[in-house]
Amino acid sequence: MESYQVNEKGFYGEYGGAYIPEILYKAVEDLKKAYLPIIESDEFKKEFHSLLKDYVGRPSPLYYAKRMSEKYGCQLYLKREDLNHTGAHKINNAIGQILLAKQMGKTRIIAETGAGQHGVATATACALMNMPCTVYQGALDVERQHVNVERMKMLGATVVPVNSGNKTLKDATNEAIRDWCCHPSDTYYVIGSTVGPHPYPDLVARMQSVISEEIKWQLQEKIGRDYPDFLMACVGGGSNAAGTIYHYLDNPNVQLILGEAGGLGIETGQTAASMQVGTVGILHGSKIKLIQTEDGQIVEPYSISAGLDYPGTGPIHCNLYDKGRATVIAANDDEAVRAAYELTRLEGIIPALESAHALALLPKVKHLFKKDSIVVLTVSGRGDKDINTYLSHQEMLND
Ligand SMILES: *Cc1c(COP(=O)(O)O)cnc(C)c1O
Repeated sequence: MESYQVNEKGFYGEYGGAYIPEILYKAVEDLKKAYLPIIESDEFKKEFHSLLKDYVGRPSPLYYAKRMSEKYGCQLYLKREDLNHTGAHKINNAIGQILLAKQMGKTRIIAETGAGQHGVATATACALMNMPCTVYQGALDVERQHVNVERMKMLGATVVPVNSGNKTLKDATNEAIRDWCCHPSDTYYVIGSTVGPHPYPDLVARMQSVISEEIKWQLQEKIGRDYPDFLMACVGGGSNAAGTIYHYLDNPNVQLILGEAGGLGIETGQTAASMQVGTVGILHGSKIKLIQTEDGQIVEPYSISAGLDYPGTGPIHCNLYDKGRATVIAANDDEAVRAAYELTRLEGIIPALESAHALALLPKVKHLFKKDSIVVLTVSGRGDKDINTYLSHQEMLND
């Protein structure tokens, strides 16, 4: 049977790999050699799981959403990553990678951030584990994401505004890579999603795979069967989706439905739906599908959701899409806003805008559901950070 996991060369089908400058070769090679023996050791597992339990608050509940189930004619369960400490799934990965960095003998942490969610998760885990932390963020994002910048500083991180390029995530990532090139021996670079050179996509997927590990026993407990008929999640770089599907990839009974950000519509050019409109190229050390011009210039993506506003999608999902293992559907800004209000009114849960892109697929796929279909949808984060956006887009509810 075809495997959807990474192969020994670091590829998922034609995607992935490690396209890096010579100067980073040793740092990436060291990580590649170190990560599996460390994260599969009993010592690491014990510490990681104890922090996930007592610090993050795991297991996150698997909640049967009764009113939403009635509305969509299925049995809908929500995987509540929004209830984690710091409000999203990103903390699972940040804690795991910083534990790994410590065991590799690294003494300094760097990260890049766009909207600031990954920066806050990394700064949090660094405060917890007493590691100095530098976060690169585009200067425009530093201005736009004032609250997260203050959170990172309060947590003790140094936030470095990046003034090159468009002053957004891509430029921050370039700067973080530059820093890593200068300090490869003592510095560990924490990547926040299933992107970047091998082994990062596999490493991040493994850190987030706790999500599907829990879904298995939680379903067993609730319905007497450890798999659902459908799994749904939103995809930016792909980490919450990778965690949600990890232990089900090779189970053909489970249909995977992934939501990417349509922005104003995939035909408008104002979109972040890179799996559907992108072409193959190399970004941040990995061969993936990207939104780019014919001569390979990255086109600034657009989405109402900062966390999905990335010009590519990680190699795991590009491969699942190409092979037909996952159904990928775009949800536009207005559909996501409507879905967020709907969940709030029917279940009393205000989701993150990113997560609302998964919820917005329910009306688009409900024709696939039977009354007894088990659907598990991951709510990747909570919506407190998005309240101003929700308020200023209420007109989207009217059509
Ligand atoms: C960052 C973020 C995402 C998108 O990132 P993935 O790596 O695709 O999961 C989704 N939801 C929330 C709440 C986020 O903060």
